[in-house]
Amino acid sequence: MEMQMLLSMRVEHAADLMKKGELSVREVTSYFLERIRETDGKMHAFITVDADGAMARAAALDACPVSERKGRLFGVPVSVKDNILTAGIRTTAGSAFLKDFVPQVNAEVTARLLREGAVILGKTNLDEFGMGSATQNEIYGYTVNPRDPKRSPGGSSGGAAAAVGAGLCMVSIGTDTGGSVRQPAACCGLYGLKPSYGAVSRYGLIAYASSMDQAGIIGRYPEDLQLVLSVISGKDEKDATSLPLPEEYLKESPLSGCKVGVPEEFLKENISSEVRDAVIVFEDFLRSEGAEVTHFSFTDISLFVPVYYMLACCEASSNLGRYDGIRYGTNCSTSEELRKMYQENRTAGFSDEVRKRILMGTYMLSEENYTDLYLKAMKARKLIRRAYAQAFKRFDLLLSPCIRGKAPYLTDPVIYDDDIFTVGANLAGLPDCAVPVGGTSVQLTGNRMMDGLVLSAASGFSKGGAEK
Ligand code: GLN
Repeated sequence: MEMQMLLSMRVEHAADLMKKGELSVREVTSYFLERIRETDGKMHAFITVDADGAMARAAALDACPVSERKGRLFGVPVSVKDNILTAGIRTTAGSAFLKDFVPQVNAEVTARLLREGAVILGKTNLDEFGMGSATQNEIYGYTVNPRDPKRSPGGSSGGAAAAVGAGLCMVSIGTDTGGSVRQPAACCGLYGLKPSYGAVSRYGLIAYASSMDQAGIIGRYPEDLQLVLSVISGKDEKDATSLPLPEEYLKESPLSGCKVGVPEEFLKENISSEVRDAVIVFEDFLRSEGAEVTHFSFTDISLFVPVYYMLACCEASSNLGRYDGIRYGTNCSTSEELRKMYQENRTAGFSDEVRKRILMGTYMLSEENYTDLYLKAMKARKLIRRAYAQAFKRFDLLLSPCIRGKAPYLTDPVIYDDDIFTVGANLAGLPDCAVPVGGTSVQLTGNRMMDGLVLSAASGFSKGGAEK
């Protein structure tokens, strides 16, 4: 078999070939490691490549007798975003603070991947602590979009998307607090799923905004997302917000009879004609499958971005308080005085963007502002949740744009407003999948724990509609 075939192969098929011993895990692993060596010097998709660890693991998997091989991801080369703990492999969260941090334990997501036989090639690049939309990392490099070297792959899981897009691994794990899996997937022409909040354990995710953080998956096929989701999802006692999965969680459903709502407010946003056409193409596909598609007036979406950023900054200010160079993170201070030591460490450890968000969050949480700012944003969040709950009384799925147009240029500034399409699903805890259509992307949002329905609609399109 030509190794190149792996670049367009489904994960399940590759795992099957390796399980049967028709393909050696070592050969597959070294093929991808070689591709990383050739490409990544310029692409900066990875912060750390664990070539030795991956080859040792591949050898161990090859040594397992064929009759005893199991694991749904047996031998599959994967990458993990660098804000997810990997025992023995450096985990930086894209920050100078954690540049030497080697975790002792695995995140639950990592442990589940390994339990099913995956081979972790390395850790992918991100905006520091996941705060950004273009993977512009001053310390570990700016990640380059595999489809256009002048552009960014989006972010913050831009390394994850670039790694899949450039064929440097078969599937990637990212995280999504306000769009960081879906937006880079959309910018790179890939599928990207943010699961329902609570479906995937957050144990071992380096927290940004805990009430919205979820691990997600970026891949070439919706079926790959579904397979990996079946591996990483499920209740975990170590994360109090993780939930038992309902029986229908991963169930595939036919599109015929499915009610799909298209919120008009998102279409009134400034979006490119390409994106507008993609929504129409997807609508036509849904109708041809027997789904009922209705445009409807959803809610005032102008609140989405401010509410998201207010809450994200507040939660970040509290989550990032631990990085002082003493309890957590590198201590680079020479001062003997405690306050000064914190000051110096936190000044050297955080980028301007992260510092700005911590300061804003701290301000909003301060005694005099708490009620007017933080609590008000919490109330607005409730209204947003309610608007989605109302919508899902009428519809099974929502269809909307995922991005305004093309991926940002490499050095474009962060545009918070562009997150308007993606943050709603995080504020409401809903499953949401970026689906490539033509050269761009749309997104499908489902009701809570209806991740299977979202993925089966994406998969129906990839099989039927994508070629039309
Ligand atoms: N762009 C958003 C932010 O900077 C989303 C980031 C994310 O999902 N991690 O907060």
